[in-house]
Amino acid sequence: MRPAFGGPRLLLRRLREVMAEQISAQERLDKIVVLIAANMVAEVCSVYVLRVDATLELYATQGLNREAVHLTVMRAGEGLVGLVAQTAESLNLSDAQEHPSFSFKPETGEEIFHSFLGVPILRGGNTLGVLVVQNRAHRKYEEDEVEALQTTSMVLAEMIASGELSALAPPGQEPAARRPLHLPGEGLAEGVGLGHVVLHEPRIQVTKLIADDPARELVRIEAAIEALRAEIDHMLDAEDVARGGEHKDILEAYRMFAHDRGFVRRLKEAIGTGITAEAAVERVQSDNRARMMRQTDPYLRERMHDLDDLANRLMRQLTGAKGEVRMDLPDNAIVVARHMGPAALLDYDRSRLRGLVLEEAGATSHVAIVARALGIPTVGQAANVTSLADPGDAIIIDGATGEVHLRPTSDVESAYAEKVRFRARRQAQYAAIRHLPAVTRDGVEVKLNLNAGLMVDLPFLEETGASGIGLFRTELQFMVANALPRTAEQLDLYRKVLDAAGDRPVTFRTLDIGGDKVLPYMDVIQEENPAMGWRAIRLGLDRPGLLRSQVRAMLRAGAGREVRIMFPMVAAVEEFDAAKAIVERELTHLRRHDHRMPDRVQIGVMVEVPALLFQLDELLPRVDFLSVGSNDLVQFMFAVDRGNSRIANRFDVLSPPILRALRLLARKGREHGKPVTLCGELASRPLEAMVLAGLGYRSLSLSPAAMGPVKSMLLDLDLSRLSALLDDLIDQPRQGASIRQRLRDFAEAEGVTL
Ligand code: PEP
Ligand code: MG
Repeated sequence: MRPAFGGPRLLLRRLREVMAEQISAQERLDKIVVLIAANMVAEVCSVYVLRVDATLELYATQGLNREAVHLTVMRAGEGLVGLVAQTAESLNLSDAQEHPSFSFKPETGEEIFHSFLGVPILRGGNTLGVLVVQNRAHRKYEEDEVEALQTTSMVLAEMIASGELSALAPPGQEPAARRPLHLPGEGLAEGVGLGHVVLHEPRIQVTKLIADDPARELVRIEAAIEALRAEIDHMLDAEDVARGGEHKDILEAYRMFAHDRGFVRRLKEAIGTGITAEAAVERVQSDNRARMMRQTDPYLRERMHDLDDLANRLMRQLTGAKGEVRMDLPDNAIVVARHMGPAALLDYDRSRLRGLVLEEAGATSHVAIVARALGIPTVGQAANVTSLADPGDAIIIDGATGEVHLRPTSDVESAYAEKVRFRARRQAQYAAIRHLPAVTRDGVEVKLNLNAGLMVDLPFLEETGASGIGLFRTELQFMVANALPRTAEQLDLYRKVLDAAGDRPVTFRTLDIGGDKVLPYMDVIQEENPAMGWRAIRLGLDRPGLLRSQVRAMLRAGAGREVRIMFPMVAAVEEFDAAKAIVERELTHLRRHDHRMPDRVQIGVMVEVPALLFQLDELLPRVDFLSVGSNDLVQFMFAVDRGNSRIANRFDVLSPPILRALRLLARKGREHGKPVTLCGELASRPLEAMVLAGLGYRSLSLSPAAMGPVKSMLLDLDLSRLSALLDDLIDQPRQGASIRQRLRDFAEAEGVTL
């Protein structure tokens, strides 16, 4: 027979009283274990707290030897308590000593207890400790008792997270709740950011855990679930979603969960233990997060993310909070998000934004492109960071190495502060050479242009002393807009760009959309290989309306000036001819309608598809210039997806196959008397830029942050010595393809700073 059970609600009421008492943290803990033991008719109740050194320390007990408090320490994973901490799952055993993980701690005197119930103390999916009850008799604890203990552990979680217990421990052994964390991610935009966490989607803090009137809480949760279901149905009906695509799949998953009986039952059971509806949502969400953190299957993780989102929505229904609560940004804001669109990033006040951390973004995601354009240090692939970080936490991110330090120790802080000072010194040096032309020691000038795409990029022209804009990615304007920009809006932007550039040349690239660059307001086309799919000029030629309106806007913006237009992803000479015909047609149209004409129109092609390498003698006579898009060219030459970090380091661009292709392009350009420039990320890395200069490139286009380092490298360089070495290295048959180290050695020997 199961012993009499005082009932979880009574227990929670008592707990509330204890929490309100003006007593020390230890006294409070001691009272809590006595209460729980009495309420659950257990001979033992103990609280173990996870410490920063990843061990579990006995903080309070009723029933075990009290002398063992603060002395008994075990590793996470050791014994039954360690197992609960490690798995973040409850363990309910009628004969604990039979369990293979059982380990005996003589100082506690626990050998006589047979039954064991341990629940993890969780907050936001993180384990902060373990709460245990034990009985002498062989008994299995009932479901409602497990529930009640889990609920009680929420109270303890708040107590630990508040820092109240920290005073009970010597340095190095404090509770781990607020421990420093080092999270490895992927660097998406260079720079170091020091600041404080701002959650992009702020969590709603549940301030009231214990219900005054449980029946009312049940009514509230039912109403909130109904409202949530209606909200999802409404979103699914919305016209733009009804056409299908990824968004719709996510909503379908939400709908499935919102109607899932298990989900609803778990919420109601949690309320049944005496907590508020909000606390019930938090509990279910925290359990889900704990599972999500351990889940390695990407599909299942994704579904758990969906459930997490759904719980957030339910919480908003309950509290009436709006989705986008944008509080005032602190001065040094580091925004932390699961994912984010480029438009959302632009909503933040840039003057206060010091960095961005995302759980789910790769280097070529749109938000990463925009973050780089804005010069915001960014780290992606930072697993679970939104659960681990609390608003206001100190945080340091390194956009070069992809590291995130949450609640950093003072050592880490001072190391990074030094790094920032060093960078600032370098920046001051770069500013000092801003107005110098990039001329090598042996007198060769390499024009350094800027890669840009948004209005916010324009001040960089002055700040970096760029020769012009070598690549204006026009699709960025389309990606951050809510609707397809009209010709008039495009015209306005292009005019502003040309005005800002003054007499510096600007090369506009026509839209490179399609494939993975999806516009939120356009139909999604599912393709197996979007990078090689219906994108860029292919889409432009098949649906010429869009391309025409864009070309018209460019030509009109360039009235009385030079207009440079280039086409992305051209794979065949015929495609260039067709695209050029569109420009000519638009010129004729403008002439007929008496518009003021551009002074000069230069039409070029991006070399991104390897097939163009074998059509250069046909192509070069037709074009005014070529610009190498090394991001795509390299991805297609090595057949390595540019967004896939798993294979990113498999081949080195600084190896003969790519360098021979780049040299061929430069040579052919010279032969035909046509300028060949390069505008992929390659030119933004000093060592690679050095090689490009050595191969004969006299014009490069790079990201704003790279301008100083690349110019400083060029000023140190003796180009003739490099060119001789390069030919030798590229043509020699060799073991091991990369020549990176040889080039680094050259730079070092020559005193070239990279
Ligand atoms: C490139 O492919 O190198 C390039 C500059 O274009 P994008 O990165 O926009 O594809
Ligand atoms: Mg490209």
